Amino acid sequence: MAATPEICSSIIQARYAVGADGMNSLVRQAAGIGFAGGTYEESFILADVDMQWPLGQSGVSLFLSPEGMVVVAPLPQENRYRIVAAVDVAPEHPQIADIQALINTRGPESDIEVLSMIWSSRFRVHHRVAEHYREGRLFLMGDAAHVHSPAGGQGMNTGLVDACFLGRILADVISGRCDERHLDRYEFKRKPAAEEVLRITGRLMGMATMQNIVKRRARNIVLRIMNRLPPLKRKLEMNLSGLSRKYAAKI
Ligand SMILES: Cc1cc2nc3c(=O)[nH]c(=O)nc-3n(C[C@H](O)[C@H](O)[C@H](O)COP(=O)(O)OP(=O)(O)OC[C@H]3O[C@@H](n4cnc5c(N)ncnc54)[C@H](O)[C@@H]3O)c2cc1C
Repeated sequence: MAATPEICSSIIQARYAVGADGMNSLVRQAAGIGFAGGTYEESFILADVDMQWPLGQSGVSLFLSPEGMVVVAPLPQENRYRIVAAVDVAPEHPQIADIQALINTRGPESDIEVLSMIWSSRFRVHHRVAEHYREGRLFLMGDAAHVHSPAGGQGMNTGLVDACFLGRILADVISGRCDERHLDRYEFKRKPAAEEVLRITGRLMGMATMQNIVKRRARNIVLRIMNRLPPLKRKLEMNLSGLSRKYAAKI
């Protein structure tokens, strides 16, 4: 007979509370804060596999093939890679044959064998920002406050900057160095930063999943040119990594 799970509950009294409870945040819902935005049409396959990858483990590869995009990102274990691919309808449990087909049709032109599957899943991508980051003594941060496409890999980073920023202003207010009005700076600074990330990742997502052949060709030409112009390439890198938003972490 299955054991009845023990339910632990306790009441903690605090001057402020921070909802860092992810995209489906109960704190955000309980506070009645809207989460405006939508969901992209594409679904995504996500899988960790072992394979002999001809491009080595030193960098992330993104292929924008006519069949669709596929990302191959090395993991710390030898010959292990994370595969992310946009498809029309992702299977609930992608199999090794699904990943092999993706690599064959979208990857580099060479015989690559997917040796084993570690785990796999599928996901949809949302783009939403909380209408407010603060409701009285309650704050939202991380995915509870903003979600967007993983293109560019900025979701966790954006949440970490939220945490640094909010932590510092909460410390200033609690220690009496600043008055409570100072707390409004959190939403004032961090919401536009999240909106900017949504704009950039939305554009990247549109570029990566483009269907129109003329637009795809134009995109490929632009990317080739950018790749040959170091200042432009550097600017793109800074934007993608979020490092160009230096102001974001300052108070
Ligand atoms: C495929 C994919 C690839 C990604 N790649 C990157 C990347 O390369 N770089 C990057 O920066 N970001 C990336 N992200 C985004 C990143 O994973 C998220 O932005 C990040 O995990 C959000 O952190 P969080 O702590 O705000 O929320 P979560 O990671 O969702 O954590 C919320 C926590 O709250 C807990 N919780 C929820 N409700 C309750 C409750 N009622 N009671 C108690 N606990 C609760 C949950 O169990 C969970 O532990 C990616 C996301 C996806 C889907």
